[in-house]
Amino acid sequence: AEEMIRKTELLSVVGQMAAGVAHEIRNPLTSLKGFVQLLKTQGGKPEYFSIMLSELNRIEFIISEFLVLAKPQVVVHRQCEIKPLLEHIITLGKTHAIMHNVQIVTHYAPDLPAINCEENQVKQVFLNLLKNAIESMPGGGTVTVSVGREEGMLVISFTDEGCGIPEDRIAKLGEPFYTTKASGTGLGLMVSFKIISHHGGTITVKSKLDEGTTFEVRLPVE
Ligand code: ADP
Ligand code: MG
Repeated sequence: AEEMIRKTELLSVVGQMAAGVAHEIRNPLTSLKGFVQLLKTQGGKPEYFSIMLSELNRIEFIISEFLVLAKPQVVVHRQCEIKPLLEHIITLGKTHAIMHNVQIVTHYAPDLPAINCEENQVKQVFLNLLKNAIESMPGGGTVTVSVGREEGMLVISFTDEGCGIPEDRIAKLGEPFYTTKASGTGLGLMVSFKIISHHGGTITVKSKLDEGTTFEVRLPVE
């Protein structure tokens, strides 16, 4: 009976997600359809093509975020050095940071041990957290990324000086499609929580409204 209950719960989550994905994709599709109709009747204008391209990118983005969960991937765990991994993510996030007038500061504790992880998945988590930190500061500011150790765990934290998260919203984090952003997907944290828990780790949040937020990722070291 317990098994049945679990399956029912799982189905409803999947159903909820499918409905959400359908809804998220319908908007860019409607817009694309409108522009294709315009192309047919009035011919193309350069701005039509750039809007269409950005709508296509949006659909691609939503699907790629969703697929991480839906598609069983070939998972290869191996020993990873945390510092080069984070530096790679920070390089990827740099243009996003510059666009938001945000600077990124890093602190690494000495002699950090390697972690056993699926590198691409863990990178995706860090990129999500870095992007969220950057996006929390519409007026710009600093994101601090630090890595330290704690009894058998590596602690990677992302601290921003942004809008903060109201206490009654903390529980909503990681719910599929929970977003407060005009062009957010609300999938980033759900995917992140899932990946880190598969690694035997945790993600915790500390936040103060209008002061900022810290997301802490703990990953076990061998
Ligand atoms: P998205 O970024 O697409 O909105 P996420 O799952 O990454 O989806 O985040 C969900 C929501 O959590 C965000 O829309 C935002 O409201 C909140 N959030 C996440 N990180 C932060 C942060 N660092 N500061 C403030 N709010 C945050
Ligand atoms: Mg996000």
